Amino acid sequence: MEINRTIMQTLSYGEERIRYQVCHVPDREGKVAIHVHPDGSVQVDAPMDTELPEIKAAVQKRARWVMGHIEKARELREYVLPREYVSGESYYYQKRRLQLKVVRSEDAKGSVKLHRGKLMVESSDVSPARVRKLLLGWYRARAQDYFSRRLKDITARVPCLAETPEWRLLTMKKQWGSCSPKGVLSLNPNLVKAPRECIEYVLLHELCHLQEHNHNPRFYRLLTEQMPEWKSVKAKLDGMSELLLNE
Ligand SMILES: [Zn+2]
Repeated sequence: MEINRTIMQTLSYGEERIRYQVCHVPDREGKVAIHVHPDGSVQVDAPMDTELPEIKAAVQKRARWVMGHIEKARELREYVLPREYVSGESYYYQKRRLQLKVVRSEDAKGSVKLHRGKLMVESSDVSPARVRKLLLGWYRARAQDYFSRRLKDITARVPCLAETPEWRLLTMKKQWGSCSPKGVLSLNPNLVKAPRECIEYVLLHELCHLQEHNHNPRFYRLLTEQMPEWKSVKAKLDGMSELLLNE
């Protein structure tokens, strides 16, 4: 599954041109909802039957609000990048933002724990290289555990899937997951940082490839049967990609 964007709409606001993606979401109640993602991208979720002019008018009406949030996202990104692996930095785990706390201890092996909303790293060596290695190991272990459970659940739920496929963790720069011709899934351990519905979407996408190897209409029919709102979930994940792939 490639990490990329789909077709965007454009809104003009003063000198600025704001690009946004429209997602029609099945079963969505009520009005248009505007989201500004961590990378500054804008997603607009709308009920299935909402016409484009109505959506554009709703976005136009809130243009100032949207700009304000884009500005905030830009500032936050400047603050977050690049990592130094010291206390106070922000990390992500299944939607939650966690503050890193690095503590020097007697422990030569080192450990990582979730404690009261903080990601605690304890080690006798608190150099950036060592803290980074411990954090990568922790994310891998969480990913291994969570993905294997979710793959089992989804396989049991989707009628055309017989058994949980073979899979492995693989750090990729531009992909969340892939499916080999032999039906072996590769999943990016950084995906465990994403909200649960985004993880579910990627797993489902790759599992659907076991049935349909290409992105053909049958593939999308299968995916949509299992997750009708997948476009909205994908847009959300795309908007967070840069942040989540920052190791
Ligand atoms: Zn795919």
